[in-house]
Amino acid sequence: MKIFKGIQATPGVAIGPIFLHDPEDFWVDYQLIPDAGVPSEVERFQQALSDVAEDIQETRSHVEERLGTEHAQIFDTHLLMLQDVALKDATVELIETKRFNADYAFWQAFQKLRKDFDAIQDDFFRDRRSDLVNIGKRVLARLCGQEMVSLEHLNHEAIVVAHDLTPSEAAHLPTDFVLGVATEVGGPTSHTSILTRSLGIPAVVATETLMAHAEPGDLAIVDGGRGRVFLNPDRETLERYRAEVKQFRDRQVEWASFRDLPAETADGYRVQLHGNIELPQEIEAIQAYGAEGVGLYRTEFLYLGSDHLPSEEEQAEIYARLAGQLSPHPLVVRTLDLGGDKLSHVLSVKPEANPFLGWRAIRLSLANKPLFETQLRAILRASVEGQVRVMFPLISSMEEFLEAKDLLVKVEKDLRSEGVPVDPDFKVGVMIEVPSAALIADQLAEEADFFSIGTNDLIQYTLAVDRGNEKVAYLYDPLQPAVLRLIQQVTDVGFNYGVPVTVCGEMAGDPCLSILLMGMGVDSLSMSPRLLPGVKQAIRSLTFEFAQELARTVLELRTRDEIRRYLAQMLPGDLGGQIPEVVVLEGEE
Ligand code: PEP
Ligand code: MG
Repeated sequence: MKIFKGIQATPGVAIGPIFLHDPEDFWVDYQLIPDAGVPSEVERFQQALSDVAEDIQETRSHVEERLGTEHAQIFDTHLLMLQDVALKDATVELIETKRFNADYAFWQAFQKLRKDFDAIQDDFFRDRRSDLVNIGKRVLARLCGQEMVSLEHLNHEAIVVAHDLTPSEAAHLPTDFVLGVATEVGGPTSHTSILTRSLGIPAVVATETLMAHAEPGDLAIVDGGRGRVFLNPDRETLERYRAEVKQFRDRQVEWASFRDLPAETADGYRVQLHGNIELPQEIEAIQAYGAEGVGLYRTEFLYLGSDHLPSEEEQAEIYARLAGQLSPHPLVVRTLDLGGDKLSHVLSVKPEANPFLGWRAIRLSLANKPLFETQLRAILRASVEGQVRVMFPLISSMEEFLEAKDLLVKVEKDLRSEGVPVDPDFKVGVMIEVPSAALIADQLAEEADFFSIGTNDLIQYTLAVDRGNEKVAYLYDPLQPAVLRLIQQVTDVGFNYGVPVTVCGEMAGDPCLSILLMGMGVDSLSMSPRLLPGVKQAIRSLTFEFAQELARTVLELRTRDEIRRYLAQMLPGDLGGQIPEVVVLEGEE
């Protein structure tokens, strides 16, 4: 057995034979053509370009239908690359001056462009390199009369292992057959991650050397939640994961039965359960898993998946559509959280030495007022279509929140003076993700309509542990007393000031932790929609009184080990065995 560490792209476990996706390099035929053959060879080349353009257009329409306009825009970049004048001219010149056949001429010109791309030290161009290679291969396939290996035609169940997937490949993955995906490159916000998440396919990216070790048909396990790929797993590992998959399937059947029941404890206490989304089409999962609205819409994905800044019109259309579909349930739109690990070339956010302490989220929005105003205008315009709320990420001081709120008030006035209707009861929230915000929660409560605790960041900033760094992952722990105390303080403030408190970080989607959060007095929980049934089941299995008592005792304990032991002992049924463990990477390659 070999274990490959990667980055979690889509949670879930897949077990199956490997399909190695290695779109072959083409054998390019070299010929010298006679003078008289030049015009027809140029013509053949141009025909190949227009055939490929037609294919891309077709793919674009398919993707637009299946995944929405934002994803389809990726193909506009492909079309632009295909129409690149330099590549076209260089090919034609090689045909005309060197008398190369079209295949060989294009291949030469293409290799040169590929090398030029390789030499550029810029994230944007590095990301576009795989797009370029894909385009080049498509043109060569046409010229050589060969079919490219297409994942679309996969007709047996398999785990797709590839160096990388193009956006087109990821968007076309046949969900009936693709059990899981593992790629050698990519990050949490790369196209593969975004698209596999939308399609609900367990996936791990950045496995580095997986292709060199894997053979077609090898058995593999993709553990998307932990970011691990097991190649030819030993019996014990296989059995453990088979049991996990079975347990998950059984649970899903059971969960479906209470989809429409409320998240209510045995003694009648109700918690609202909302869903987190990154893409508009995830609204389907929101509805399928019975979420009472969207508690966190991570709007930066509108910018990450696009090659242009989304306009006010585009954004307003998306927010309004979602609000209408969710109504009467809420749509909580979080304003842009770019920076940190989410870099967008359209904003030229450059890598920084300390990205999580740097130019990120609200800081970036406040420094780009026109961009921020565009988003706020779009959100406010959509407010009359349903229950739209806005919240600002990474607020670390009162000044920052007031500045953002002032801008919102100004934008609202502008819209009204233009005769554009805005919901008069529009709610504005603060994300509590930085300890400084938690510590001034009482002051923020005077200004905010609601709090949303972003525990993913709150844990990293409270414990000084980079949430994406595997080396310190063993320190990243929601059950550290310091983290729990901060959450309790914010919840108490919310209660005393009549400000509703939501938790929208990963903690909210964990059944055991959700009980603890409920016991602390959190009003609602927002999570990845697929996690919602498990949380609902846990809430329905016990009383609020029990959860309160549990939380009270946990907050008196001094170490995370004591807390884990106590929870394991106290939580009823199989909940006690589901307490999240800290990540320990020892012994893995
Ligand atoms: C969080 O920090 O908990 C959160 C919900 O925001 P994100 O994960 O997008 O940073
Ligand atoms: Mg956050």
